[in-house]
Amino acid sequence: MRGRLQAELAERRAERERAGRQRSRQVVRAAGPCAQADATTDSRWIDFCSNDYLGLAREPSLLDAARRAAGAGSGASALVSGHSIAHAELEAELADWLGAEAAVLLPSGYQANLALGPTLLGRGDAALADRLNHASINDGLRLSAARILRYAHADAGDAERRCDTRVRWLATDSVFSMDGDIAPLADLAALADRRGLGLWVDDAHGLGVLGPGGRGALAAAGVVPDARVVTFGKSLGTQGAAILGDAALVDELVNRGRGVIYSTALAPMLVAATRHALDRLRTEAWRRERLQAHVDRFRAGLARVGLPVPASRTPIQPIVLGDDRRAVAASRALERRGFLVRAIRPPTVPEGRARLRLTLSAAHDEADIDRLVEALSEVLAETDA
Ligand SMILES: *Cc1c(COP(=O)(O)O)cnc(C)c1O
Repeated sequence: MRGRLQAELAERRAERERAGRQRSRQVVRAAGPCAQADATTDSRWIDFCSNDYLGLAREPSLLDAARRAAGAGSGASALVSGHSIAHAELEAELADWLGAEAAVLLPSGYQANLALGPTLLGRGDAALADRLNHASINDGLRLSAARILRYAHADAGDAERRCDTRVRWLATDSVFSMDGDIAPLADLAALADRRGLGLWVDDAHGLGVLGPGGRGALAAAGVVPDARVVTFGKSLGTQGAAILGDAALVDELVNRGRGVIYSTALAPMLVAATRHALDRLRTEAWRRERLQAHVDRFRAGLARVGLPVPASRTPIQPIVLGDDRRAVAASRALERRGFLVRAIRPPTVPEGRARLRLTLSAAHDEADIDRLVEALSEVLAETDA
C-alpha cells in the first residue's frame, strides 16, 4: 500500500514536471521593508509579489502592539473562551468603520469564504458566481452543495441572463486577485436588488487601497453588500479576516459557520497588531496616496518603453504572457536582475493565461519602480516567443 502510494505521488510529480507545472516554495528571509533574500544563497531582491500594499507588514510598531497583547494564542474557539475584549473591540471597530451592523472574526480569509457558503446556501439553492472568483469563494460554494452558475467575468448582464428562481446569492471578488480589475459592483448590486438576491463580496484586495479613507472597493462604488469579507493579510499587513453584515447574519455565522465554531479564535497577538494596523491605515493616508502614485508611475513607465499597459488601475498589475514556460523564464530573468516577481500559472489562472503578477507597495521607492520597468523591458524582449 505504502509503496503504491509513493509510486502514485512520484508519477503525479513527474506529470507536473513534464507539463512545466511543478511548484515549490522558496525559503526567504526579510531583507528590508519590501525586500527578500534567498535563505541559502543570500541573493537579495526587491519584492514585487507581496500583497503588503501599504508597507505595514514589517513596521516595528505592529510587532510592539502584538507584544502588548494579552497572549500569543487564544486557547479556544470563540464560542468556548477564545473571544476576548480585544476581539469584540476589533469587530466593533471594523463594523463601525465600514458601516455594517456587525462583524465576526475568522483566522483567515480562506476560512471566511468557506464558512459563508454552507451558512448562506444549501442543496436545492443556486448561486451566481463570477468565473474568475477567488478559489476560496468557489470552495465555499462547493461546500454548500448549491448549484453554482458561473457568469462571464465582470459581466452583470450575463449574470442576469443566467439567473433563475433557485438563485439565492450572487458571489464575487471586488478586486480580482490575478487581474487587478474591479467587479461592476453597482450593477451587480442593482441586479441583486431586482431579483431579491443576497450579495456576497470579498474585498480582500480593495480594503485599505481603494475608496474614501481606504474603506475598500465597495465604499468606492457606494455598495453595502449583505455579506462582506475583508482580510488582514493584505493591506493591513497581519493575518486573519472578518465577515461583516447585519447582526442577524453574524449571529447565524456564530451559530452555524463551521470555520467560526470549529477553529481556534484568531490569535490575540494578531488581533492587537491588526487593530494597530487599522489605526495606521486610517491616519496615514499618505500610504494610500503613495501607492496610487506608484501605480500611475509604473503604468506610465510601461507605456514609455513601449510595453502593453495592463487594464488594471489597482496595485495588482498582471503582464499576461500566455505560455507557462515563458512566464517562468521571465520571472527567473527578473530574479537575476534583483526583482522578485512570480509567474502565475494554471490552475490559478485559466489555461493559456500564464502571467507575471506584479504587485506594488507604498514601501517601494520611485527608483525601484523605474528600475523594474527597465528590467521588464529587457526581459520581455529576451524571452519574446
Ligand atoms: C488572499 C485572499 C483570500 C484568502 O485570505 P487569507 O486570509 O490569506 O486566507 C480570500 N479571498 C481573496 C480574494 C484573496 O485575495
